[in-house]
Amino acid sequence: MSTLPALDVEGLSYAYGRKPALNRVSFQVEAGQCGILLGPNGAGKTTLFSLITHLYDSRDGSIRIAGHDIKTEPGQALAALGVVFQQPTLDLDLNVLQNLQYHAALHGLGRKEAARRIQEELERQGMFERAGEKVRQLNGGHRRRVEIARALLHQPRLLLLDEPTVGLDVPSRKAIVEYVHELTRTGKIAVLWATHLIDEIRDGDRLIVLHQGQVRATGGIDAVLEATGTATIGAAFERLTQQREAA
Ligand code: ATP
Repeated sequence: MSTLPALDVEGLSYAYGRKPALNRVSFQVEAGQCGILLGPNGAGKTTLFSLITHLYDSRDGSIRIAGHDIKTEPGQALAALGVVFQQPTLDLDLNVLQNLQYHAALHGLGRKEAARRIQEELERQGMFERAGEKVRQLNGGHRRRVEIARALLHQPRLLLLDEPTVGLDVPSRKAIVEYVHELTRTGKIAVLWATHLIDEIRDGDRLIVLHQGQVRATGGIDAVLEATGTATIGAAFERLTQQREAA
């Protein structure tokens, strides 16, 4: 397996007109790691995701997914990426299977391979029995599970999730947090999970704390606590996100 990081962001800046949204952002996430992109509202998380998914283009800095530069090798970079956007994107009037088949076809999976991968991913989340149900009939937690299954069909090296638990009840949130962390334990995939909720962090996660478009801290939980001289992630987050914009 390649030793290149699943995600390598280097010196990335972006502005909406003259308003800066990201300022020289650099960090890496390796296979087997769950990177938690932690930042308050307006920190720049969605902007960063829009750049990684190539919805926006940036003049400054680089993004490499599994070693492929998003600007110069977009096809290979995007083939190594699975995404769960903040806003749900399933077709409510199609059933679960149809939603997944459509996506598998977009990724060039043949019918047999698609059927096998769909079954595998739905079974892993206890959703295979629901394959024939219209998405409209599913609750929010189950819809999110289908979106995660869909993002994994083509076996990406990096899974991006933009605040995936927003609006879900506590048991659904917990199930999704645990499932995604479990995925990284195979060592085959890296995750970048954007959130402003510190209770979604688990031991072993790599934190990337973003505030006002800048990375204020990055590393394991212990490293961030040590760097901030705090005893809890809550206190560290508060300290890091109260700082004024660095020069
Ligand atoms: P949230 O958690 O609220 O989604 P976020 O961390 O995802 O916040 P962004 O949405 O990336 O943050 O916003 C970063 C900054 O860029 C904010 O100051 C925001 O007001 C600004 N911004 C975001 N989208 C636009 C846009 N289309 N035009 C102008 N400014 C924007």
